[in-house]
Amino acid sequence: MAKINNDDFEYVFQNTIVGQAFVSLEGKCMKANTALCKILGYTKEEIKHIYYHDISHEDDIELTKSKYNHALKNNTSSYQYERRCYCKNREVIWALVNTTLIKDKRGNPLYFFTQIQDITSRKKHEQGLKDVQERYELVLRASQEGIWDNPDNTKNYEYWSDQYKRMLGYRPDEIEGSAKLFFSHLHSDDIQKTKKAMADHAKNKSHPYSTEYRLRTKSGQYKWFKTYGIITSKNGKDRSTGSLSDIHSQKMAENVLERNKKKLLEYTKELERINEDLDSFAYIASHDLKEPIRNIVTNIYLLQEDHKNILDDNINKRLEKIIFLCDKMEQIINSLLDFAKLKNKDLKIKRIDLNEIIKSIISTYELSNTNISFKLPSPLPKTICDEVTITEVFRNLISNAIKYNNKKQKIVEISYTNTMGNNGIPKNVFYVKDNGIGIDEKHKKDIFQLFKRLDNTEDKVEGTGIGLTFVKKIIDRHGGKIWVDSDLQKGSTFYFTIC
Ligand code: ADP
Repeated sequence: MAKINNDDFEYVFQNTIVGQAFVSLEGKCMKANTALCKILGYTKEEIKHIYYHDISHEDDIELTKSKYNHALKNNTSSYQYERRCYCKNREVIWALVNTTLIKDKRGNPLYFFTQIQDITSRKKHEQGLKDVQERYELVLRASQEGIWDNPDNTKNYEYWSDQYKRMLGYRPDEIEGSAKLFFSHLHSDDIQKTKKAMADHAKNKSHPYSTEYRLRTKSGQYKWFKTYGIITSKNGKDRSTGSLSDIHSQKMAENVLERNKKKLLEYTKELERINEDLDSFAYIASHDLKEPIRNIVTNIYLLQEDHKNILDDNINKRLEKIIFLCDKMEQIINSLLDFAKLKNKDLKIKRIDLNEIIKSIISTYELSNTNISFKLPSPLPKTICDEVTITEVFRNLISNAIKYNNKKQKIVEISYTNTMGNNGIPKNVFYVKDNGIGIDEKHKKDIFQLFKRLDNTEDKVEGTGIGLTFVKKIIDRHGGKIWVDSDLQKGSTFYFTIC
């Protein structure tokens, strides 16, 4: 048999693309080939002064030592491992190290023959894959979504993530996923639409398909899930991949909401019908009532005229009282009619100068009353509203501020402040403030109710208890709010916003 001569060995040793070196038992590089010098960045002269620990990365020194000691102790001839090495420029590379312990004829260790391959790019690639896998698992854990993947679009096997199985109530090791199993768990009412969603997507794959369906869980109960899926093709084969989220509670809540919405709609319709009936009743009744009242008054006047000789003062006083009450009843009926009309009245919304409105209202009081003073600290801003009804609001509030006031000098302040609206935009809050009799805390809500007049309202103060209801309705129709702040005997402030 032909012998390999030394020159051939030297030629192969020097020219192979794998880094190679003879290393003494103390770890010193005795001889290295060109490839190793290139990998580590040393010249052949420099590398002869290098010990293995000079190039070992701190984190792998222990591993390197243990491999070396193990080889010596157990007289192992070859071993392989991966470790990081420092190059001359301190750059770190990953190396696949193959070491063979060379022994003499008696088996005594002489030195090591080491081969080093630079596997840095493979390691980086592996690390990248590991990172991707780790990220994928973390995202899955965080999203609580189940995942399926059918790489060959077969019926008998499909990857189901652990979470997918748990969502169906199974332990991850309890079942193997498959398309067949999926369809056997799918509610019969949802099979058609699920197949259709898949088939539609297969025709146009520009967007993932999405559908909601019920799957039978291990306990036999059906639960609602939402799925997003895509079908991709590679080398003529379809692959089906997707995610599954549990929407059962949301679906149940939606059902309740839907039922409540339906009920609410029914109630609203009923309420609208009742309101319409009430409105037409109020309108017809008010209209029809006015005539008999006018007749009563006319008859009383006739009675007084025809029998003035026999009617004594007492009877006349009573008849006057009846006329007064009839007038009051007519006032109430008129207010009721206005109130009923307000609902259907079209508001003419435009930018209005409120200062003009206030000027015209207070001018009627200023002419004849010296015991009323009006304070207007700052001009009111131009406001978008219906002029006619908003005039009614100010007229009512100003008239009440004067009516329900027992002070010698009645003071009425009309102005506005600002508040922050829900949408973050400041809103104007208008107010009418008086130094009148005030309103007890317990009555603050009642005063906006129809015909509500308070116990402390003196009989001689004219009113029907409809004004504030009217005001509230106008403010409501403008989308605003009205409320009152008050101190008994000190005065009240009525605040309101317009939209
Ligand atoms: P009316 O003035 O015709 O009685 P309103 O609806 O305007 O009806 O007012 C309801 C009740 O609220 C009044 O009867 C009165 O008791 C009370 N009220 C209204 N405005 C004031 C005010 N500025 N100060 C004190 N009480 C008031």
